[in-house]
Amino acid sequence: TPALVWFRDDLRVRDNPALRAALAHGPTVALYVLDEESPGIRPLGGAARWWLHHALEDLAASLGQLGVPLVLRRGTAAAVVPDVAAKAHAGYVAWNRRYGGPERRADTAVKSVVRRAGREAESFQASLLHEPWDVLTQQGTGYKVFTPFWKEVSGRDHRHPLPVPRPQREAPEHVPSGDDLGAWALLPRDPDWSGPLAEAWTPGEEAGLALLKDFVGPDTADTAVALYPDERDLPDRAGTSRLSPYLRWGHVSPFQVWHAVADRRRAAPEGSAVFASELGWREFAWHTLYHHADLASENLRREFDAYPWWLPHAGRGGAHDAAHGRAHGAPPAVVLGDREANRLLDAWRRGRTGFPMVDAGQRELWATGWMHNRVRMVSASLLVKNLGIHWRLGERWFWDTLVDADPASNPFNWQWVAGSGADAAPFFRIFNPRTQAAKFDPQGAYARAWIPELGTDEYPDECVDLGESRAEALEAYRSLGAAP
Ligand code: FAD
Repeated sequence: TPALVWFRDDLRVRDNPALRAALAHGPTVALYVLDEESPGIRPLGGAARWWLHHALEDLAASLGQLGVPLVLRRGTAAAVVPDVAAKAHAGYVAWNRRYGGPERRADTAVKSVVRRAGREAESFQASLLHEPWDVLTQQGTGYKVFTPFWKEVSGRDHRHPLPVPRPQREAPEHVPSGDDLGAWALLPRDPDWSGPLAEAWTPGEEAGLALLKDFVGPDTADTAVALYPDERDLPDRAGTSRLSPYLRWGHVSPFQVWHAVADRRRAAPEGSAVFASELGWREFAWHTLYHHADLASENLRREFDAYPWWLPHAGRGGAHDAAHGRAHGAPPAVVLGDREANRLLDAWRRGRTGFPMVDAGQRELWATGWMHNRVRMVSASLLVKNLGIHWRLGERWFWDTLVDADPASNPFNWQWVAGSGADAAPFFRIFNPRTQAAKFDPQGAYARAWIPELGTDEYPDECVDLGESRAEALEAYRSLGAAP
């Protein structure tokens, strides 16, 4: 039977079970749908759109080598996928699973329309080591604490990656190629801010696998994975893998990463275990999203609904918006006027808070679409704890600017920093950006790399009093009556 494989966040030809299954069925056509219309699907941010454009070019080229044409369509998945399946005369339609709420609803809709038309539809596990519904506590719920979660998951067997499929011999049905990638206007124009992104990244499968290979290195004790426990918190070193966008877009799979790193267990026992647990946090974030589809809009710990974070358009957004802490009678300790809050939010976004580690991070983010994890934590903490601005606004900014922004890891980590999330940092542990810089950027090399005017009059003064704002945040937190 002719087959259709529908690509989503799995833009690779190796270790791709849906692609393999389609090719095993018969002459295969591939499809990517730019779906900004299915209800609830969050439109991609600017940096992500840039990445996607190049990722699709890369995918089309590697599929071309397998003789598989890539059709591009824009629209609602439940309309587009069945239509292309019909044009390809496909008796079989395959895809790899997604785990967000709106994505799952869209996939269920596609499945039923495809099946109603008498075609077979099958989905596969490709982007998580284990399915969220297979990793449950004894009570049958998702894990809320990372350590037992990871103990359970890392103790299991993870399948080995699948090899690249062989080129198909029989040409599939000709399907009009659909949209032109250029017409989707994914690339920024007027102004084109993508220059530094292109210097920092090569989107695509080969580039992702090359990074992974470099990171694990040979089986010796001086590789990046071996040094990872010592270097991963130093933002001016290339101490982390930088695999996040490649995992986000599925250019590399967690199975490939897990096994590559596990193979270094002998020469780098600590490094491979610490690194694997970071993959575990990725897995945990996605499992959390599966169990809490509203992760990007609702505090997981609902007592934080009364925290008086600043959020504009209070009550107008319809959704659970704004400083409803005020409505719930929390003290107005860190309640900001709109003007003041907008000024602070703007300073944070532009990297002009007067705290060099935060400012360097925000500028790195703006230029390259990525920020070091340590700096993400410090920067997020300043926004939600010292500036009193809602984590959702920080999450939205990251969503728009990160090349690795995904619907699980981004809100999960914002809630982790804010204290409202799963197994979150205790609220009272408020990062001090000065102390963090002294510890993790002791020579100031990272700060100087991103802030040319550091040490001159042009560099702004600190935008908030750390001591006072910390005390106000703790007071507001205490008034929630939340457990520490
Ligand atoms: P490495 O240290 O090499 O880690 C390897 C892989 O493990 C990463 O590529 C990533 O897939 C995974 N990983 C590591 N840490 C985490 C974590 N805390 N949560 C989830 N996965 C993790 N990561 C994203 O992939 N997308 C996001 O949108 C995102 N938003 C974040 C927002 C905030 C406020 C914070 C504090 C962290 C966020 N992270 C996010 C997690 C983390 O900062 C990045 O995954 C990491 O910096 C990526 O760099 P790396 O690939 O070199 O990481």
